[in-house]
Amino acid sequence: MRPAVFIDRDGTVNEQHGYINHISRFILLPGVGKAISLLNQSDHIVVVTSNQSGVARGYFPIELVKATHELMKKELAKDNAYLDKIYFCPHHPDGVLPEYSKECSCRKPDIGLVKKARSELDIDMERSYVIGDRLLDIEFAHNANLPGILVLTGYGRGELEYIVPHTGKKPAYIAEDLLRAVRWILKQEGPHKNLWANILKKNS
Ligand SMILES: [Mg+2]
Ligand SMILES: [Zn+2]
Repeated sequence: MRPAVFIDRDGTVNEQHGYINHISRFILLPGVGKAISLLNQSDHIVVVTSNQSGVARGYFPIELVKATHELMKKELAKDNAYLDKIYFCPHHPDGVLPEYSKECSCRKPDIGLVKKARSELDIDMERSYVIGDRLLDIEFAHNANLPGILVLTGYGRGELEYIVPHTGKKPAYIAEDLLRAVRWILKQEGPHKNLWANILKKNS
């Protein structure tokens, strides 16, 4: 079993632009390719988990989400980085497309996407993490019983200042960006600490 890192998409992997309702709005944040390649090299399962309620709301078709994910994979490949799996929730209870307008269990902070990942991948939950730019991602982490790391890209800085102080669900760690979040994960205690320290050294 390998540990997984569940990474949010908008604001964590790519620039936060509200809805990514056109492929041209997908721009990878700096250091993301390197961050994910570090996770690949250190034998982590890398999973992107994303709410895309714009599908249910009729803002863009589900095909756009898929095309955006193909672009994301292509951009990451430039840094020899790859994702093991991408899971997203296209639903919203107040949507306009009947097919996607419902209460579901896969919309974060519900943990349907984690359950799906666990059913398809051999994940060591004891050593897994969640990374995201919103309190919603930290709640998702708490609900899945995983440490949640808040990044200060996307909505992160505002969430940290205005939202996080008023909640009981605190991040396990706060990182400037995805690369720093990953470096922190690789420095945590564990049976693979030395291995990961070497990978960090090799990539520094
Ligand atoms: Mg986000
Ligand atoms: Zn859903």
